[in-house]
Amino acid sequence: MNPEIKLYPLIADLWKMDGGVAFGVVPKSMWNRTQMADENNMIPIVTRCLLVQTPGRLVLIDTGMGNKRDAKYYQVRYREDFPTIERSLNQAGFSVDDITDILFTHLHDDHVGAAVMKDEQGKLSELFPNAHYHVSSAQWDWAINPNKREGASYFKDNLLPLKESGKLHFIDQEGEWLPGICIRIFNGHTMGQIIPLVNYLDKTIVFAGDFIPTAYNIPLPFVPSVDIQPLLTMDEKSAFLEEAAQKAYILLFEHDYFNECSSVQKTEKGFMMDKSFTFSSIV
Ligand SMILES: [Zn+2]
Repeated sequence: MNPEIKLYPLIADLWKMDGGVAFGVVPKSMWNRTQMADENNMIPIVTRCLLVQTPGRLVLIDTGMGNKRDAKYYQVRYREDFPTIERSLNQAGFSVDDITDILFTHLHDDHVGAAVMKDEQGKLSELFPNAHYHVSSAQWDWAINPNKREGASYFKDNLLPLKESGKLHFIDQEGEWLPGICIRIFNGHTMGQIIPLVNYLDKTIVFAGDFIPTAYNIPLPFVPSVDIQPLLTMDEKSAFLEEAAQKAYILLFEHDYFNECSSVQKTEKGFMMDKSFTFSSIV
């Protein structure tokens, strides 16, 4: 069966990240050749969510940061006021009410924040009132009792309203989740990160999340410094990129400002980006 699936990459946030954080142990003299840092050592970043329309469901993968933190929180991330996920959805012809499901790759604030919004009185409410929420139970447990290192990325006001909605569901199995959408689980960046593979026009589109956040993170040593188990990330990437190069998967990057999609090649020097292209050029 080849279900009819439509995909819409949607920009939720434009922001910046410290280049050293983005590339871990790789020296600036190497990463700065392709990612020119600004005077504050910051590189431009997006949060690109993916809307998956199937015959019966409208699934949003990740949501962006939302609005619940104070101004300083967004300032240090150089987050621009627009776009927002709501605007990008509207531009694609949908409304927040249409979303039936939200699949969270994981629960760091830049991936989950917009699911719960805060009004001027400080009242919290679901941005997508009709959505059911899906996350791995490993990630949920990890986020509810955060460790000292990742603590700054998890917020109770992102998590508890999802639980209280009564619409939170756990995914613990790899494999087919919905027709045409297959789930993989990786643990190097954080525990239980879900990476969906979508069958689209007989191609495999990998929503690469924080597993491979940008095309510049494809080479094995280019692991963000925030990953909790960088050696595991390298092993996970090595096995997955072998498969991706062999089977001509298309990676769709959640955080890459410059490259929406790329293919992967294996060379004598290891894995690297093959061709960079826009999603709309896929036929
Ligand atoms: Zn993350």
